[in-house]
Amino acid sequence: MSEEKKTEGQKLEERLSFRRKNAWEKVDEEYIKKAYDFCEDYKSFLNMSKTEREFAANTEKLAVAAGFRKLDDMTASGTRLKPGDKVYFINRKKSAVLAVIGKKPVSEGVNILGAHIDAPRLDLKQNPLYEDTELAFFKTHYYGGIKKYQWLTIPLAIHGIVVKGDGTSVEISIGEDEDDPVFTITDLLPHLAREQMQKKMSEAVTGEGLNVLLGSLPYRDDKVKEKVKLTILDILNKRYGIVEEDFQSAELEIVPAQKFKDVGFDKSMVGGYGQDDRACAYPALRSVLETDAPERTAVCLLTDKEEIGSMGNTGAQSTMLQDFLANIIALTEESYSDLKLRSCLSKSRMLSADVNAAVDPNYENVYEKRNATYLGHGIVLQKYTGARGKYDSSDASAEFVGEIRKLFNDNGIMWQTGELGKVDEGGGGTIAQYAANLGIDVLDCGVAMLSMHSPFEITSKIDIYVTYNAYKVFLNS
Ligand code: MN
Ligand code: MN
Repeated sequence: MSEEKKTEGQKLEERLSFRRKNAWEKVDEEYIKKAYDFCEDYKSFLNMSKTEREFAANTEKLAVAAGFRKLDDMTASGTRLKPGDKVYFINRKKSAVLAVIGKKPVSEGVNILGAHIDAPRLDLKQNPLYEDTELAFFKTHYYGGIKKYQWLTIPLAIHGIVVKGDGTSVEISIGEDEDDPVFTITDLLPHLAREQMQKKMSEAVTGEGLNVLLGSLPYRDDKVKEKVKLTILDILNKRYGIVEEDFQSAELEIVPAQKFKDVGFDKSMVGGYGQDDRACAYPALRSVLETDAPERTAVCLLTDKEEIGSMGNTGAQSTMLQDFLANIIALTEESYSDLKLRSCLSKSRMLSADVNAAVDPNYENVYEKRNATYLGHGIVLQKYTGARGKYDSSDASAEFVGEIRKLFNDNGIMWQTGELGKVDEGGGGTIAQYAANLGIDVLDCGVAMLSMHSPFEITSKIDIYVTYNAYKVFLNS
């Protein structure tokens, strides 16, 4: 409608009211092509990065290729860092921090993108292998919030590391290549599921029921008691040089075996495992890799253990970020002091790069649609997370939300805001609170998704691309 045909009321409404818009409708063909292209990189990186260890290892590869140097080496040799220098730190092969040194002193604050690279999954128990009814299985212990029934009757892969008796270790990744076998957890046929079907969803499948089917071929020796188990041990020994006791010092993760796929006739969405939070971690990583000589030092923090509370020395509650910043201060400023680190933290800003639940029309009643997020509506700003009365939320200040809102508006970043579901419905947290506790200004800011925490999470290509652009704008602000 042309301007002159609009009524006074329509013009006033346009000026005063806030309307959410579909991001696809606000961009041209070229932008859409760029979004689709970016998601090709995204899918292939995620296909290779199904565990936190794999994500960290692939992060290191990209970082080195982009000219990043190991911070430990710089510290050991006392190499001074200047604006534009790029450094990284891989923490115990499971989490990472990267930085591009800015023009301003680090003690005056840095810009941080913080995402997590672990995802809900099934871990093998420490004594996992057993035989029952002439079938071999692995016992598992689930990690993070899963709906257990979703893990039945789908192809599964095994990824991880086994530390052997002699101290050497071997990496295992099986179930991803075309010729690899896959594994699975069986389910009861409907014909015999009368009792199971009466149970509550939360009780129909138990944690101890998540046993992974491994094999059925008996070892040919009548003197052996558990022949199928022995066949598996024999194969594992021949292939990886491991014995059963080695499982005690192993970290093996069961993840969905499917590769990432485009979803929909229009291929506008991406489907695959572990997009919480790699839908934010990958755009965050790409943004820092592509940042050159920013004003404030640009930092990308990729943490582990978020799905179980950010605990441990690779999680967001550890000192890894502070240690990293302390080392950077020592290599960029005249001298290091605790006061400089504290000054850096309290003047730093962070986008807690994590996903949000998009409204799913199949389950509308759990969302409050005026304050919910939508697939394809751009990056999500979430002022607070938490549950019930905002418990466990760091709740970003109006000032900081205002700052980011202005930054995004000034740079044409399409954004939306939203909460995780209705007030009394449930809730969730991110790493935001742990950074906020250090004095950092933090706002949750990431991609909306459907089927979160499932083996096949759905995101919108435009949201992933907008998020990548938003993160770049932030790191360069
Ligand atoms: Mn998350
Ligand atoms: Mn999660």
